[in-house]
Amino acid sequence: RRAAYAALRDTEPRGTDGTRIDLMINAGLKDDLTALDLTGADGIGLFRTEFQFLVSATMPQRERQQKLYEEVLDAAGDRPVVFRTVDIGGDKALPYMRSGDILEENPAMGWRALRLALERGGLMKAQARALLQAGAGRPLNVMFPLVSEPWEFDEARAIFAQQAGWIKQQGGRLPSQVRYGVMLEVPALAEMLDTMLDRIDFVSVGTNDLTQFLFAADRAHPKLAERYDWLSPAVLRFLGRVVRIIADGPRNAAGDGPRVTLGVCGEMGGRPLEALALIGLGINRLSITPAGVGPLKAMIQSLDIGAIRRDMPALLAGSTRSLRQPLTDWALQRHV
Ligand code: PEP
Ligand code: MG
Repeated sequence: RRAAYAALRDTEPRGTDGTRIDLMINAGLKDDLTALDLTGADGIGLFRTEFQFLVSATMPQRERQQKLYEEVLDAAGDRPVVFRTVDIGGDKALPYMRSGDILEENPAMGWRALRLALERGGLMKAQARALLQAGAGRPLNVMFPLVSEPWEFDEARAIFAQQAGWIKQQGGRLPSQVRYGVMLEVPALAEMLDTMLDRIDFVSVGTNDLTQFLFAADRAHPKLAERYDWLSPAVLRFLGRVVRIIADGPRNAAGDGPRVTLGVCGEMGGRPLEALALIGLGINRLSITPAGVGPLKAMIQSLDIGAIRRDMPALLAGSTRSLRQPLTDWALQRHV
């Protein structure tokens, strides 16, 4: 099987009906970059920049950050890389950063990610400048984690604008284009998404955090791991609504689709049956763990994407329990 997946490396993730899916990988360390060529992925859909902070004994200075981002962009070549700004704090606490000595009872819902970065302005400014300078002369994609309200995106975006202004003033070179996006991990953001479509370029759903917040169930709790299914109608309906909100938003320049790109970068997308459901809901971009690329590509290449998209509403209608069995039956019947 492993050999069979390797043989798929240079083939495209395209359904039997010709629909193309972007299949990208999640990464966070320099060592992960080899996975890009090994898997033949379309790019890095989630680069977790906090890994550099987590493996370091001291706060990585701007120059060190920039060096890593340059190496990542060099390794990716023409393939896109989506850098996520630091998701630290909470349970990813840094020993060298004081958090105000508050003992957090619910660190996942605590002072982390963008919440922390916006308050520690120096941290965010340094990272913004490192990213913008690393991307000099080439396209750059930046996304912000755990955005809960639109103003948080606006503030983060403003820090990038300010740093870009500074670089320009110094006669430095900027990226050829910067695309900014939000991670959809907090359910409240979905309610406000329509108000942001004029100024974001993409949305990436972080299903790991999103499902723990949708179900109010700790993603790391062993007793809850089996209890709530990614294929529950609640999850799929929620994601279906997000697809429609974006589809109802501004159109792209070619007029053949939404201007705002939608993808999924949580672990859910790396499992073939879950990926089938996501594709069925209308999602065209998945960023997954590298080991999942081969199996997922094989699944996609045997899938009539138009057919699952036509059948998905009926599969969902009236379902009150997980769609795991109905989707398995659907896939078996069609030899997916
Ligand atoms: C997620 O929450 O789904 C996600 C991709 O981010 P992380 O797993 O790093 O929290
Ligand atoms: Mg997350």
